[in-house]
Amino acid sequence: MAGKIFQEMKKFLSLRSLQARFFLIMLVAGIVPSVVMRYGILGSYEERSVQNRIANVQNQLMIVGSHLISNNYFNTKPEGYNRSVSREVIDAELEMISNLYEGRVMIINSSLKVVKDTYGISTGKTIISEEVIQCFQGENISNYDKEHGYIEMTTPIIDTSANSSVIEGVMLTSISSEAISATMTVLDRKAGILGNLMLVGTMAMAMVLSVVLTKPFNRVTEAINEVNAGYSNERISVPDYAETVHIVDAFNQLLDRMRALDTSRQEFVENVSHELKTPMAAIKVLADSLLAQQDAPAELYREFLEDIASEIDRENRIITDLLALVKMEKKAQELSIVSINVNDLVELILKRLRPLARKKDVEVVFESMRPVVAEVDEVKMSLIMTNLVENAIKYNKEHGWVRVELDADYQYFVFKVSDSGLGIPAESLAHIYERFYRVDKSHSREIGGTGLGLAITKSAVLMHRGAINVTSVEGEGSSFTVKIPLTCVAAG
Ligand code: ADP
Repeated sequence: MAGKIFQEMKKFLSLRSLQARFFLIMLVAGIVPSVVMRYGILGSYEERSVQNRIANVQNQLMIVGSHLISNNYFNTKPEGYNRSVSREVIDAELEMISNLYEGRVMIINSSLKVVKDTYGISTGKTIISEEVIQCFQGENISNYDKEHGYIEMTTPIIDTSANSSVIEGVMLTSISSEAISATMTVLDRKAGILGNLMLVGTMAMAMVLSVVLTKPFNRVTEAINEVNAGYSNERISVPDYAETVHIVDAFNQLLDRMRALDTSRQEFVENVSHELKTPMAAIKVLADSLLAQQDAPAELYREFLEDIASEIDRENRIITDLLALVKMEKKAQELSIVSINVNDLVELILKRLRPLARKKDVEVVFESMRPVVAEVDEVKMSLIMTNLVENAIKYNKEHGWVRVELDADYQYFVFKVSDSGLGIPAESLAHIYERFYRVDKSHSREIGGTGLGLAITKSAVLMHRGAINVTSVEGEGSSFTVKIPLTCVAAG
């Protein structure tokens, strides 16, 4: 159990598990937007606060600036110029601004001399600062120094009484940004708490969702394991997702195929046992009945022993055919391809089968359209031809005929066996290649059929990547056509 948990943990941490990936994706998808929002909103809030503050201060400074000019603060106008506001009032205004914004205001005249400093430190000194010079040239500057907690700005003092506006002086102001920093600290703390809560919430949600979403896959595994362990034999069903349905469908198809294979294997074993038992039972009956008879005549012994010998032959034939079939179905077995003269092979096979044909009074003719040379497995090819011609003779009528035709095009050769025999009923045509299938069991047994010949033939044809077809009319005859590629590429 501990080992299994450890394995699962390892899978989770190495991100090999779907659950871990789900978890991570959901976590990232939940956290990234909240982090971006947090810093984005706080950042723009701070920027706007600073800008507002600068605008407020600038407004007030502009008013003071106009008072300065009308009051001839810089003494640039002739004596007796209208002084609407006294110098003390202006100084008080400046003091008020610097108190209000916790800052310092310096008034600098056109010779860069400080004529007023609300701190009283720099009055009378000359200031050579880039910002001040730039302001005299008409460029307003404002700087926010977050680290030291102040905002610095320059405000021009413009005399608009003359025809053209003249910058008579500059106000260099620095105000505290502590209030903004304090608000930012509070907001940042609140956003932090909210962010952490969201992180915990997202993690919990990601955890729950990753478990819930991957559950159907676990159910598939469980169902497959149950079938594997043999607890269940049912087709499995996990209809949650299209993906699990596909996996399950594929698995069920595999299961069906395995069951079909298993059933066919069982049937085959049953058939084999039955076929092998039949001659044995006959032998047993024959032997028992001989033993039961006291002083049985020698002729009877002879007759029964002949029957026993023929049953043994039959048993032998079944075993030989079975071995041929098993060999044929071993996929790994290679074809031993050689280039052969097919006409010669057909002639040889017909020569071997002619005695059987004579015995049944069946005429065998061979019609070859052209000489055919093909790359095939000679032993398997003679099995194919022998089985088809032998069947055509065996299932024929008296005085019947068998016609063997051989033709070829540039790709295939065609071997066709037609007969004037019993024919095959339409409903049996689909079954004749099955192992142990016989149209008329007793007749087939009589003439020594095992029901394996056509199964072997079809296997051998398929191994050559060929095709076999049959047409038949019951009572009139049958025609088997085999088409084999001239150059054989063995089937896998
Ligand atoms: P068997 O060893 O019994 O001949 P096969 O597999 O060769 O087995 O053939 C299966 C069955 O198909 C046969 O039992 C027979 O009934 C039928 N059959 C095969 N070839 C012919 C044919 N040329 N004419 C009529 N029936 C045939």
